[in-house]
Amino acid sequence: MDQGTKATELLYLGDSLRFAFEARVLGHKQWSGREALVLDQTAFYPESGGQAADRGMLADLAVIDVQKDKQGVIYHLIEGRLPPVGTQVAGQVDESRRRLHMAQHTGQHMLSQALTRLFDAPTRSSHLGESGCTIDVGGPVLSLDKLFEAEALVNEMIDRDLTVRAWVPAAEELTQLTLRRRAKVSDNIRVVAIGDFDLIACGGTHCTQSSQVGLVLLQSAERYKGMTRVAFAAGQKARRQARAHGDALRAVARHFKCRAEDAADHAQRSLRQSQESQNEIKSLRMRLSDELAHSLIASQTAKIISADLGGVDQEVLRAVGKKIIQDPLRVALLCAQVQSGLSVLAMRGADSQFDCQDFLGQLFSKLGGQGGGRPDFSQGRLPAGTDWLSQVAQSISQKQ
Ligand SMILES: [Zn+2]
Repeated sequence: MDQGTKATELLYLGDSLRFAFEARVLGHKQWSGREALVLDQTAFYPESGGQAADRGMLADLAVIDVQKDKQGVIYHLIEGRLPPVGTQVAGQVDESRRRLHMAQHTGQHMLSQALTRLFDAPTRSSHLGESGCTIDVGGPVLSLDKLFEAEALVNEMIDRDLTVRAWVPAAEELTQLTLRRRAKVSDNIRVVAIGDFDLIACGGTHCTQSSQVGLVLLQSAERYKGMTRVAFAAGQKARRQARAHGDALRAVARHFKCRAEDAADHAQRSLRQSQESQNEIKSLRMRLSDELAHSLIASQTAKIISADLGGVDQEVLRAVGKKIIQDPLRVALLCAQVQSGLSVLAMRGADSQFDCQDFLGQLFSKLGGQGGGRPDFSQGRLPAGTDWLSQVAQSISQKQ
């Protein structure tokens, strides 16, 4: 009989802190087109139940993935040549990664219990991924403040150092147990108790004491398919995140030369001041364009008004043009000095027949500029040093 099809003995079920083990190679089996190692027993947790697979070493080769089939056979995908069938191999689970997964998983049980207890918000599904952990809960819409209450309860239970116990109860004992959620299977149910705080059926790996979870930090809550999707971090990841957030806050505080606690107020004040300055700049621009347009209209009696407005920005250039062509027969031919040369525009009033596109087009081809537009509005760039006013005067006199 091919021993490689027998369910693998799962060492992590009895001892989630067993990271080193010895096993016998039962076979080389295919998993998703790759050859994988099947052992008689393993401490490697396969990807399942929303928890990522373990990593580590097997026979001095890197384990890059661990999967499980319906018969309970575990497939170890490893980098390199598989050790021969029948040999004994040593396995070493990546302890730091596993401890993180255990903290996330145990933290998730506790958070689900806290949300059920406080807000009658049952967990519908959970995801404990490389990039982050989320649980989707039903029930009422939960505000961030409510979620922080649940976070506080979880962290209190972490402080209490509750013993986490996983076992397979006999059928009779099982009937006496009140699980947070009804089990998906009916026989050989493994239950996990976190003190007397939480009890649920689960086949994953968990901390052995609640204090090993270290810390649970809620990150965000958003509506998702009629539920609340709660994102959180636990264990070493929560600590790293708290450190990163603290560093970012202190960097902001340094900018404002204030304490980290006051940084939000300073940022808000600074934002308000910046908004006020923007508004002031806008109104000054409007006043400047008004005055420029007025003085041009007063000094030039012809319908075609041309001007070099020096170092004004694009917004002012356009605003002056718009004011000039409020008279439907007027044409505005304006330029401003910019870093790359001359920014030019031509625009006409509603009743003018002047062809702005053609006018600038001819100047562009004559002087080596570029731009485009329509007969009523055209703009572009001319080389630095171009004498705008005399070029405009020349072109107009040629037209007439
Ligand atoms: Zn679990």
